[in-house]
Amino acid sequence: MKTDKAIAVDVLIVGASLAASAAAKRLVDAGLDVVALERRTLPRDKVCSGILSPRGHRFLVENFGPLPEETLHNPVSCRGVTFHFPSMISIPMDFDGGPTPHLHRKFSDYWTITQSGVTIHDNTTFLELEDTGKGVLIRARKEGREIRYTARFVIGADGPRSAVTKALYPDYQKSIPWFMVGQKFQKIIACPLDSDYFHFWFHPGLGHYTWSHERNAQQIVGVGFPAGGNLHTMHANVEKYLEEKHGVKLEPAERLEGCTHNFGPSLINRYIFGKGNVLITGQAAGFFNMLAEGMSCALHSGAIAGEAIVEAMQRNRPVQEVYRTLIASEVRRCTDQWNPVKIIFGNPHEADFKTAFGKLSRKEKVTVIRDLVDFLKIYAPYNWGRQILSQSCIRLLRGEYPSNRWL
Ligand SMILES: Cc1cc2nc3c(=O)[nH]c(=O)nc-3n(C[C@H](O)[C@H](O)[C@H](O)COP(=O)(O)OP(=O)(O)OC[C@H]3O[C@@H](n4cnc5c(N)ncnc54)[C@H](O)[C@@H]3O)c2cc1C
Repeated sequence: MKTDKAIAVDVLIVGASLAASAAAKRLVDAGLDVVALERRTLPRDKVCSGILSPRGHRFLVENFGPLPEETLHNPVSCRGVTFHFPSMISIPMDFDGGPTPHLHRKFSDYWTITQSGVTIHDNTTFLELEDTGKGVLIRARKEGREIRYTARFVIGADGPRSAVTKALYPDYQKSIPWFMVGQKFQKIIACPLDSDYFHFWFHPGLGHYTWSHERNAQQIVGVGFPAGGNLHTMHANVEKYLEEKHGVKLEPAERLEGCTHNFGPSLINRYIFGKGNVLITGQAAGFFNMLAEGMSCALHSGAIAGEAIVEAMQRNRPVQEVYRTLIASEVRRCTDQWNPVKIIFGNPHEADFKTAFGKLSRKEKVTVIRDLVDFLKIYAPYNWGRQILSQSCIRLLRGEYPSNRWL
């Protein structure tokens, strides 16, 4: 492989998605020389429902401006979420502050990374790094050609299967459970599900994560389950259920997309933030809100990673120390969403489940709780329950989640 002279930058960001865009914005605004590496050719597709939370929406508007038309799918917005239970009780909940955009990730991600002002090197795959203590040497590949970079800092914003994480902790990804999520796109013959909402099923017979919503005159039917299962079988089961129980009639799937997910670290406060001059952020760090809402925490954690570097440079402090202090606020927000104490006594989500639940009759409430307990049982093999409870107790006593569980 032929190599050229190393390209020197202040910060190299791996990935050019939402976490990367937010980090880049902070760094470029601070006057640093920053390059974002993206292995795909931009704009690139991204498997995602595209339902942005109110907090994610605010972040985009405040940092990147009003969203252009091409960044949205049809319907252009989503009013909220409807939960469905095996007992056939359905609970619609509106997002706080009104509908939020239905993002077309191919174009919204390209728009945010472009708006950030970062220099983009797309079609360039990060391979490995070496942190010398004074800086980081990076090897990447573009069209069969090796490219080397030197950077004072690296940010791994490269999503669930993060190669930066793997470079720092080679065994980490083997140590966590992986889930497959897949969605098929089908033309609608009849669909009584309200197209203003994202629909989610708490049904142990359907899968660990089952959803549906309308996009561009098609219905998306998605299912999540432990990696290794068969997507077509799982999907066919959900499609049959939707037809039988909800009267949803769809044409055969025209398109399928799927990927594996590191769902889990945020539930049990097991984030991974990197070491030395290398920071990990976004979903690579384990940020994932309830209902697989990962965009708002990717944006906010990415911005914090960027800020941490700026502050570490200004105050001449170790960057990990600064990052781990600043990121605690996003850890609280994200892990609170899974914290039963917060769910029962607080309101950690951006759609008001408690008020919607309160409108049910007493009998319906008991039924929903029973359905929820049955659903949670399918997660028993992961032994998350005890960890969630212990982290919730510590949060209650100390006001925060312990940082000694983070890698
Ligand atoms: C089916 C599905 C539905 C979802 N629905 C929603 C939803 O409705 N709302 C929501 O908020 N979230 C949703 N999410 C989650 C959301 O998409 C992610 O949490 C979010 O995109 C994470 O952002 P990120 O910037 O951390 O990483 P990503 O968006 O995963 O971006 C990582 C980037 O790094 C690049 N990359 C990876 N490896 C390398 C490498 N070696 N070199 C260079 N570049 C590399 C990738 O190509 C990618 O562009 C969904 C996810 C799935 C799978």
